[in-house]
Parts: sequence; structure tokens; C-alpha cells
Amino acid sequence: MTTDDRDIAPAVPELETIVSLSKRRGFVFPSSEIYGGINAVWDYGPLGVELKNNVKRAWWKAMVQERDDIVGLDAGILMHPQVWVTSGHVGSFSDPLVECATDHRRFRLDELPGAENLTATELADPKIVEKLGLKCPVDGGPLSAPRRFNLMFQTHMGPVEDDASVIYLRPETAQGSYVNFKNVQQSSRKKLPFGIAQVGKSFRNEISPGNFVFRMREFEQMEMQYFVRPDAAAATFEEWLPRRRAWYEQYGVAPQRLRTREHAPDELAHYAKKAVDVEYRFPFGWKELEGVHNRGDFDLSRHAEASGENLEYFDPATEEHFVPWIVETAGGADRAAFTFLIDSYREDEVKGERRVSLALHPDLAPYKVAVLPLLKKRPEIVELCHAILADLKRDLMAVYDDTAAIGKLYRRQDEIGTPWCVTVDVDSLEDRAVTIRDRDSMTQERVPVETVKRVILDRMDAARG
Ligand code: ATP
Repeated sequence: MTTDDRDIAPAVPELETIVSLSKRRGFVFPSSEIYGGINAVWDYGPLGVELKNNVKRAWWKAMVQERDDIVGLDAGILMHPQVWVTSGHVGSFSDPLVECATDHRRFRLDELPGAENLTATELADPKIVEKLGLKCPVDGGPLSAPRRFNLMFQTHMGPVEDDASVIYLRPETAQGSYVNFKNVQQSSRKKLPFGIAQVGKSFRNEISPGNFVFRMREFEQMEMQYFVRPDAAAATFEEWLPRRRAWYEQYGVAPQRLRTREHAPDELAHYAKKAVDVEYRFPFGWKELEGVHNRGDFDLSRHAEASGENLEYFDPATEEHFVPWIVETAGGADRAAFTFLIDSYREDEVKGERRVSLALHPDLAPYKVAVLPLLKKRPEIVELCHAILADLKRDLMAVYDDTAAIGKLYRRQDEIGTPWCVTVDVDSLEDRAVTIRDRDSMTQERVPVETVKRVILDRMDAARG
């Protein structure tokens, strides 16, 4: 936990509240659970896959759809192994690992109690364990001096398992954008400044995964590489940082639970000139949600040198040739979805009963609307429900439920974040009108059947501001 005086309470005190809701309602399950699970991998259930897809869609909308200067890419997870040598990952994509001499458990040094705030220089000090008197947090046993542990997963390509066939599962999507810089720039005829956006799986053999989907070994990233003139990089960085922070707020994260933190000079990655993290106040402390990095010309220069390909850009306006600098925004789809879940969690009391709801932004909610019959024994009511449902489903995720009394049906939808419920009652058969109930205000409005979809679509539009 942080000791920052300006710290504020998390939206949900106990992580377990979110973990159990996720399991119970089908957002996230432990992977391979019937075999006892596999550490650091989680599976997204029927609601989780909707939420995560919506998060990725919202990111793509902000980063690609709504911009003229950014285009998309979907590069392979497997790349030429030389990419990772050139990028520096084979040499230095590692974390400091310490091992307990008695139970042989391994820990990431900077996550041990008492070592969370160490600088990068201290973390590399071979005497640091002794100096701080650090012990194994599980059995109190003595810990080894730290050593670097490379986080890349290796596998073999092709039918022969020899050293020549070793390849890596990508630990970030960014390299795919760098090696395709020329392909993208020439085919899309983009002029600087322009960006390449990617969403996709990445893999890291994390030493101490945990905190649910916060740190996994298989996860999804949402990364954008913005290519600029060298003299524009510093100013571009300052534009992207607030823009990325504002994206989380736009989709409902409370501003007071977001902050930015600049990396200290000795903490900067080998490629970075400047790095600032957007952090969120998780139940387990302030942690990185997304990083904004000024990577200089490191990536394109290195790839140009190692591949022999000229990756310079020719600026027709100034008639200059130069290697573009890169400002990167690097976030995680799982971490973002997790944050939206936590931050939207509400508990209140309605008529003496505890009500749990997820105040998710309508664009992120798994279902936008639920259609519910007041009396499922009346076939005409059920029939009308299905007609409304079929119409809604042409444009949005909608669901029907008749397996409980109406109060309980509302609670169920509240708990999974469905913004609106449409209820069909006996009167609906006469007046051809239905009730739309709002998740957050719980107010109800009666509208003609044929306007239901329009009303919902208008409300979704209004929620976008
Ligand atoms: P950390 O310091 O937490 O290990 P990082 O600084 O190495 O993260 P980046 O390499 O900048 O992270 O990755 C960009 C984003 O990808 C992170 O901000 C995070 O949202 C996501 N991410 C990185 N590692 C993981 C992981 N193991 N599980 C889930 N998401 C991750």
C-alpha cells in the first residue's frame, strides 16, 4: 500500500468483491479451473468478453476511428527472432528476481514488502537484500541476491526443436508497428505526424503475477506508436498524456482515483527519453494503468541498422531526410476493463435491501438493454417481449429474462451493469406502451412500443456527451 498523504480510498475496499462478482456473473473465470487452474491466466466469460470487446472498441474509436492521423495494424504474435535482439528485449527485458533458500519460492524484488519504493539503482544492488534485511514473506527464510530474469516466453517454430528454431511470443505489440513503419506509411500515404494503433495479445513470464487480471502472463495490449519529427516529440508527448488520462474519465473512472507519475531517470527503460504512467487507485494501491513514452529515434534507428533497411522519412516540405521519433501510448485491455469494473461498482440500499450495481458507461456495458415480462404466464406479453428484443438485437446487445419476479430481474441487470430495462406488462397489450427503467436513477418512463429502440439509441448517444 502506498504511504502517500494525498492517497484516497479505492472504489472497492476488497479485491475479493470484484473477483467473486466476476466469477458468479460470468465476467472472468480462472483458466483451466477443472484441472486446478493455471497461475496467471484468466478466461473471460459471456459478460467479460462483451466488456473487454467494448473497451477495445472504445479505444479504437478514440485512437483510430475519430482521428485522421492514426491507422490500425494487426501484426503477428510470432515475429522474426532478430526483432527481439534488436529491440533490446533479449538482452534486457528482465525483472529483479530473488529466491527463498528454504521453500524455493521466487519473488519479484520490487514487490516484496519493504522493497516497493526502491529505485532502479537500489534494485540492482547485489547487497540490497542484506542491507534491508529482507526475508521470504511466506516462511521467513533467507533470500538470494537479486538476479535478472528475462520475461520473454520462448517456443520453437517448425518441426525441428533446435536452437536455430527458437522464437518468442511477443511481450509487446509495439515492435510490429516499428517493423511495419515503411509498409504502413507508404501504403496509407500518411505524412508525419501519424500513428499506428494495435490491439492484441502479449505474453510475459511475470515472476509474481497476481491481483486477479492486473498482472497476467497472457494479456492484451492497446498500444499506439506516434511518429513525429524529432523536434516535435517533446510537445507531442505533452499532448498525449492528458488525452490518454481523459479517455479513462470519459468512460466513467473517477478523476480523483487517477494520477500521473513520472519515471525517475534511473527507472527509465533503455529506449525511453521520458516516461509517465497514468495510475489508478486499485484496492491494492496506486498502480500503472497505462504508460506514455517518448522513445526518441531508438526503435527505427536500431531496426534500420540491424535489418539494413532505410527507415528514414523524407519530409517533402523541408526536403529533409531523418529518422522519426516515437511517442508511444501503451495500455492494457485487461487492466482497463478491470479498472472500469472496479470503479463502477456501487452498493446502496433500496427499500431496506442491499442493491449492487455496476454504473458502467453504456458503451462499455455488456448488455445495453434487458427486456423483461411482468407476467411470464401471459403468452401475449412474452410474444411482445420477443418482438421488441428481436428489433433491439439488430442494433445492440439485448437480453431477455423471465426466470424470476420483476424486482429480482432488475437487481440481476443492475449487478451486471445493464443501463436500461424494458418491461412489458398487461397494460402494454392495450396501450402498446412499455416502461423503460434506468439503472442509476431507477426512474421509469412509459414509451410507445415502436419508439423503444430509438429512445435507447438516443440515450446511448447522449451518454457519449
Ligand atoms: P509493469 O511495470 O506493471 O510491469 P510495464 O511498465 O512493464 O508494466 P508496459 O510494458 O508499459 O508495462 O506495458 C503497457 C501496458 O500493458 C501496461 O500499462 C499494462 O496496462 C499492460 N500490461 C503490461 N504487463 C501486463 C501484465 N502482465 N498483465 C496485464 N497487463 C499488462
